Amino acid sequence: MMVLTGDAALRSLLGDLQGLRFDREEKSSELEILLDYLELVAVAAGEKPAHLQGQGMRSRSFMRGIDGVAAAHGLLAMYTPPVPTHYHRPPHYDARFFEWERERERESLAREGQVLWVYRDRDLERAIRAAAQGETDVAEVLGYPACCVRENSELGIRLSEARVRGYQTQYGAKDAADFIRLAKEDARVKIPPSEMPRFRHVFDYVQFSPCRECAESSSSPAAEINWAMKRLATRLSPTFQRAIEKVAKAVATARKHKNRR
Ligand SMILES: [Zn+2]
Repeated sequence: MMVLTGDAALRSLLGDLQGLRFDREEKSSELEILLDYLELVAVAAGEKPAHLQGQGMRSRSFMRGIDGVAAAHGLLAMYTPPVPTHYHRPPHYDARFFEWERERERESLAREGQVLWVYRDRDLERAIRAAAQGETDVAEVLGYPACCVRENSELGIRLSEARVRGYQTQYGAKDAADFIRLAKEDARVKIPPSEMPRFRHVFDYVQFSPCRECAESSSSPAAEINWAMKRLATRLSPTFQRAIEKVAKAVATARKHKNRR
């Protein structure tokens, strides 16, 4: 297998990614597209273990394009079903409802198409399979800080718990059968804003949400990854780095306007 070394090889990979033609409608976030390219180059550079493509969205043509470019540049690729939620602890409510929720998620993911993992080191395959089955979280394989991944998992679980409390207090639900019925009906519950998980937008060059501690420090694990990704982009192509900067700024401005409304 060809080993990718040197900036010339990385620039060639970046160029091929930027030359991909795909249906833009399917993945409309320009920032996400640019960060996908940056992550793939980081995998080739050995700065990131694996890149996950296609989780939560349906751009089949984009994924196929990436698969082709990655293979042409000596990278490895694996398709798996979409990654289910990883629970670092069970939620504090009826275990029967929790099991029903997990089964419903498994069924819903089974109907979606597959996701694509791109990586450089064959030894990573076992870890990718474990993450893809929800046995472990994605921190190790995607090279994300464990603290950030864990906080996001915790916020997701707390949101589920808040929903169940809403079923109890707003609908008088008593047991798992009531929870299941309300979930099937897609019953709306009022959740206090303080309990809604929020994505912290402080780092332009990463696709994960930093935990609170990481977001507040410029020397945190998440900040370090952000700077490393920015350095990589700058080193390979200042034009590419400026493009990310520009799109990230536009996204931040649009977000501010939206929040003000
Ligand atoms: Zn963190």
